[in-house]
Amino acid sequence: MSPRKATHQQTKIHNRDLVLKTIFDYETISRAEVARLTKLTRTTVSDMVASLLDEGLIEEVGFGESIGGKAPILLSLVADSRYLIGLNLAQDKFIGSVVNLRGEIKDTVEFPVNGCDGKQALQLVYKILDQLTKREWRPLVGIGIGTPGLVNTRAGVVVNAVNLDWQHLPLAHLLESRYNLPVTVLNDSQATAIGEFVYGSSYPSESNLVVITIKHGIGAGVLINGRLFQGDGGGAGEIGHVVVQENGTLCRCGQHGCLETISSAWAIVQRAISLAPEYDNSELAKNPENISLDAIVNAYQAGDPLAEKVVSDAAHYLGASIASLVGILNIQNIVLTGDMVRFGQMWLQSVRDAMNHAALTKMAQDTQLEFGTLEFKACILGASAFMLLENYSLLFTQTSE
Ligand SMILES: [Zn+2]
Repeated sequence: MSPRKATHQQTKIHNRDLVLKTIFDYETISRAEVARLTKLTRTTVSDMVASLLDEGLIEEVGFGESIGGKAPILLSLVADSRYLIGLNLAQDKFIGSVVNLRGEIKDTVEFPVNGCDGKQALQLVYKILDQLTKREWRPLVGIGIGTPGLVNTRAGVVVNAVNLDWQHLPLAHLLESRYNLPVTVLNDSQATAIGEFVYGSSYPSESNLVVITIKHGIGAGVLINGRLFQGDGGGAGEIGHVVVQENGTLCRCGQHGCLETISSAWAIVQRAISLAPEYDNSELAKNPENISLDAIVNAYQAGDPLAEKVVSDAAHYLGASIASLVGILNIQNIVLTGDMVRFGQMWLQSVRDAMNHAALTKMAQDTQLEFGTLEFKACILGASAFMLLENYSLLFTQTSE
């Protein structure tokens, strides 16, 4: 192909994607409005709309209000024109779902992990995908995986996932050859961040967002100008293994005093058990063998001093870590999600107080710290949405010449 022809083709694809993305962003929209928002000519928009209609990705859904002249025809995305599969491997069960283009979950298959790892854990992934890919959802255009651990997304390799005992696992390659579909692999906190960004509260498409997932471990996903920022080694947002306490508890990563050892859901259970003998005045401490996350949530709401202690310590260190993020990135929307949100507004306020205390006052004041809205679904939706955000071409059956 001649260079000029190649450029022409690129422009055409760029315009097509821009028009599609604009229609994506609105419930319904007219061609004139698409032209106004994209700054493309009406002729270009009409051509692109024609090809999108041809692909069945959009449809005409009636008339908008006339502003003088003829009432404009409204366009809308056909949510069920394509399907994606998203997997969340970061729970105590593996969950896979078929998702449509509006992020609606159509079908789900899940299996408990029960501590299995290595090849067995991989078999479990196959089991879920074998089932989902055999069901009636067509056309399937891709598979997105949210996995714990350090991931090289470009190579599709899980570099290291301690809990699953996966090292240098070429997951994307394995799944691509088995299912003959494009596959992307993301760290689960990064996938969760994309899910909250695209399908959670409505954020402008070019905005910034940090989403911190606090479960057994702690990780963050960072979006800058609406795109996932992974850093040079794919580990951007790995705040859980930054040491915050000298001589602290031994972490599963081998260091002592990581944020995870004091602020995660796992940590507060461990700390409540080990501090129980020091708390005569605590109901929770009376039966250390019954201490679980549920028990601590209930005790915390009832004002139990031991629960208060471990939860407020957890909030303190998390807030201080968030203050560092605020200082480095100055991103004003920060979302918290995962098991710890069960401690509710009181915990959120403690995290806020600690952040305010440790960050530059003005920057902390301008930072919104809120709960996510999608829970575990954020990871599934984000893993599936990621490949679309990176490459709309997946949606097209005909290559434009
Ligand atoms: Zn660690």
